Amino acid sequence: MPTYDDQNIFARILRGEMPNDTVAETDHTLAFRDIRPQAPVHILVIPKGKYVSYDDFAANAPDAEIVDFHRTLARVAAQAGVSLDKGKGFRAITNAGENGVQEVPHFHMHILGGAPMGRMIC
Ligand code: 5GP
Repeated sequence: MPTYDDQNIFARILRGEMPNDTVAETDHTLAFRDIRPQAPVHILVIPKGKYVSYDDFAANAPDAEIVDFHRTLARVAAQAGVSLDKGKGFRAITNAGENGVQEVPHFHMHILGGAPMGRMIC
């Protein structure tokens, strides 16, 4: 697992060093709008803990943080009007590492919705 880089942009957002458009916050999780939206709804959900990628988070985060992360993601999707009970659905994805083309080395999931996403390759 790569060493966590304290200077990555999401670490700086968590420290309040960078502005962001927060849509939800809990003790363990922060959700904010992507600066370069790829869909009408494009929100990033991140744990406050220092996890490089999905596999780091899933293997090493305490259960309470993992549960809070997923509950917050679902709540944010509902608040944004894209959950199945409020809207027409969404895509939740994470990119990990070089082949996943992960730009920011702090684990995050993208919520994408508000329009059909198109079928993925696999
Ligand atoms: P990744 O490729 O790592 O899965 O996605 C990183 C995402 O972070 C990209 O969609 C990019 O637009 C977004 N991003 C990069 N820098 C910033 C920033 O300073 N603020 C916000 N809100 N999003 C950012």
